[in-house]
Amino acid sequence: MTTLCFYHPDNEAHDPGKGHSERAARITAIVKALRALPQPSIAWRESPLADHEALFLTHTPAYIDFVFKSVPQSGYCTIELDETVCCDDDAGELTVLCPRSGDAVLRSVGGALQAVDEVVTGKADNAFCLTRPPGHHAMQGKAMGFCVVNNVAIAARYAQKAHGLKRIAIVDFDVHHGNGTQAIFEKDTSVFFISLHQLPLWPESGYEDEVGAGNILNIPIPPNTPREAWLTQWREKAMARLEREDFDLLLVSAGFDAHKDDPKGSQNLETEDYATLMCDLKGMAERKCQGRLIALLEGGYNIEASATSAAAVMGVLSDQ
Ligand SMILES: [Zn+2]
Repeated sequence: MTTLCFYHPDNEAHDPGKGHSERAARITAIVKALRALPQPSIAWRESPLADHEALFLTHTPAYIDFVFKSVPQSGYCTIELDETVCCDDDAGELTVLCPRSGDAVLRSVGGALQAVDEVVTGKADNAFCLTRPPGHHAMQGKAMGFCVVNNVAIAARYAQKAHGLKRIAIVDFDVHHGNGTQAIFEKDTSVFFISLHQLPLWPESGYEDEVGAGNILNIPIPPNTPREAWLTQWREKAMARLEREDFDLLLVSAGFDAHKDDPKGSQNLETEDYATLMCDLKGMAERKCQGRLIALLEGGYNIEASATSAAAVMGVLSDQ
């Protein structure tokens, strides 16, 4: 049993500015919590830099060109607005690039792609990629919600193109709707996407009637939903539907902001619930796709809650 953990210090070097909630301490705390777990079946990997071509799997060349040209020499550049705004200090709670952000983006994608290579070829059982910046809000040609490129979408396309996998399932339990992932695949039935998220909440999409080509399942959860009710929706809607789908690889957009202590969501999940979610997903992957499962970090803004929840996920993945 080998569970890979992809990480690189460049992922901490991405700095969206003082006071920004998507801060490097998120990853630092997660790495510390994962290193404190029993390690026999965890294999740490240094995430390699992806080639720019990999980003073209889901993004337009014009957008990728814009992103890398926007990486500032110093200070910060906001790339989410219609106009790129650069400044020396606080760039606001948006998608922001600093001089090291280009490398962080390429490490995130590079780790995810190597995870696909090793899990799909059976060299490892499953993987957890400490991707930062996160990815699930990134559109084909637009940055959104702290996300520059869509790591999970690129991984899905890469698994199809490089390894010939026919159908990929993506489950997103971040408290925010995976709107970028949905937009990229909504006309493509070779990818099946489930998102459970809070509504109303930014980005205010992900209603039940958004079904794509029949390959999208959105499960909106009202604010302040009791934990038991959230888990019932997970079991009776998400897992029940996934059981009826066929797929060759299960990718997970693992955000920890539905945790009761998270400042952005208003949900009530406990740390141990993330172990339950991963247990269900792992069992599903074993029944459906030879156990091939790769989790990618998305959001989660309470440092302590995200770290303990990530450790709960890793504990399940690595059978501890
Ligand atoms: Zn989120």
